[in-house]
Amino acid sequence: MSYLEDLFSLNGKVAVVTGASRGLGKAMAEAVCRAGATTVLVATNKTLLQETQQRLVDDGLDAHVITADLSDPEAGNRLIDQVVEDHARIDVLANCAGVTMQGHALDYTDDDWNKTLQVNLAAPLQLTRRAGAIMKEQGTGGSIINITSIAAERGAANNPAYGASKGGLKMMTKCLAEDLSPFGIRVNNLGPGYFRTDMSTFSWNDPERRKQRSASTMLGRWGMPEDLAGLTVLLASDAGSYITAQDFYVDGGWLAKL
Ligand code: NAP
Repeated sequence: MSYLEDLFSLNGKVAVVTGASRGLGKAMAEAVCRAGATTVLVATNKTLLQETQQRLVDDGLDAHVITADLSDPEAGNRLIDQVVEDHARIDVLANCAGVTMQGHALDYTDDDWNKTLQVNLAAPLQLTRRAGAIMKEQGTGGSIINITSIAAERGAANNPAYGASKGGLKMMTKCLAEDLSPFGIRVNNLGPGYFRTDMSTFSWNDPERRKQRSASTMLGRWGMPEDLAGLTVLLASDAGSYITAQDFYVDGGWLAKL
């Protein structure tokens, strides 16, 4: 193994990636799996999860599927318990599952608020609580990656719950990083800009919005899910062993652009 392969290797580690059926979570799951982790892909859509799993297994990699509906507050405990029963440990947790429910502030429903806050903010805590306890017991540290958004930094129209959930997640990460630091567990935020996935279909399909999103970046283009692979592996691996409580924006320069 070369120096670089060794530095970024996830061999022997067990990684759980939520939101792995599509879009960003799928790319993150593929990245950690290709870096050597035994990878558990999580979402509700079993067929999509199994398609990705099959592709990875065909490439000789170690990928597994567990379905979980994270709108259920108990699902996080069941998921982590299942992972530990199946694989005996957990080293990496990437909280990527997310929803966005559009609505103007004056009409925003409690249902949309509660669902968004449960999946985007409460589920990462519920999963971290259980996974963090296992990592502490193992005594070999761990890495938790929370997927925030440029919406954690900027106010956007017609979606108060999304911004609240991502801004909340951004700060929760820093609190969790402090609580878990005595056990060598690192917690970081990965905040994507605009990426071409199902979630952004509305903006992508509108020619004006599509152009505006590119123009808002320094690099002049939308992100593609594979653009997250490098940072994901850095944060998950020992290459990132002194990195915790940080915000990383993979946004083509969006937030810094005047
Ligand atoms: P996406 O294509 O809509 O995928 C969302 C993922 O979350 C799917 O795998 C979905 O799985 C899963 N999910 C949703 N509700 C769930 C639930 N109740 N239980 C379990 N899994 C659930 O979205 P994406 O663009 O990849 O977004 C992934 C993350 O990145 C989200 O947290 C999003 O907020 C964030 N983000 C995205 C962008 C962007 O431009 N795309 C920008 C910033 C941040 P199933 O449908 O199979 O359940």
